[in-house]
Parts: sequence; structure tokens; C-alpha cells
Amino acid sequence: MDCLFCSIVAGKIPSSRVYEDDVCYAFRDIHPQAPVHILVIPKEHICCANAVTSENSATVAKIFEVIPVIAAEQGIDKSGYRVLTNCGDDACQTVKHLHFHILGGRKLSEEMA
Ligand code: AMP
Ligand code: ZN
Repeated sequence: MDCLFCSIVAGKIPSSRVYEDDVCYAFRDIHPQAPVHILVIPKEHICCANAVTSENSATVAKIFEVIPVIAAEQGIDKSGYRVLTNCGDDACQTVKHLHFHILGGRKLSEEMA
């Protein structure tokens, strides 16, 4: 399958890794929209939030255990941060491999859409 983030997990495309375990991988967004902009992805290919099921939701739960660990490592746990995932065309999802953006390091917009 031709998937950019699967290629990053496999090490075929370079990335700026900040965290990795058996289940998930986190790296810096190539076009950061905040001083801290990290993507957390499952190592297994899940296309988007629509594809989360009882079969793979433990993977998503693990990602949400890891997010506060990354936030603390990046020094944004106290100041705060935003976690978001885009799903489908109206949300402008560009990479069809589930990913959670961690955004922080400055006061973020009150607007979310
Ligand atoms: P989304 O629009 O939610 O699908 O987000 C995809 C994100 O992936 C965007 O913020 C891109 O800047 C980021 N991105 C695309 N290619 C790379 C890459 N090779 N390394 C790191 N981030 C990337
Ligand atoms: Zn993939």
C-alpha cells in the first residue's frame, strides 16, 4: 500500500521522531502550525477516525496514554495544548492514515473550525 505515514513508520521516509513504542510513533509535523506540532500515529494502518472499531480501539487508547507523556516531554503539559484529528474531505484530511495533531507552545486560536 502506498501510504506516506506507513512509509515513515517503516523508516523508508525520514522523520523527526519524538516518541516510539510497539503501537505508535510520534514525529514533528513538517509544516508546523505552532511552536510544538507533533503527529502521533498508530503503527498499523488505520485510514481515519471512521475506521476505529472495537478491533483497533485499544491502539487509539494507547495513543491517548502517550499524548500526555509527549506533552510533558515537550514542556507544554502545564501551559496546555490541543489534540485534533481530521477525518475526510470536509475536515481537509490530507494523509489517509489516522493521526492526532498535538499543537502547543503558544496561545492557540479560540476558533476550531
Ligand atoms: P492532515 O491535514 O490532518 O491530514 O495532516 C497531515 C499533516 O501531515 C500535515 O500537517 C502535514 O504538514 C504533515 N505532513 C505531511 N508530510 C509529512 C512528512 N513527510 N513529515 C512530517 N509531517 C508531514
Ligand atoms: Zn498507512
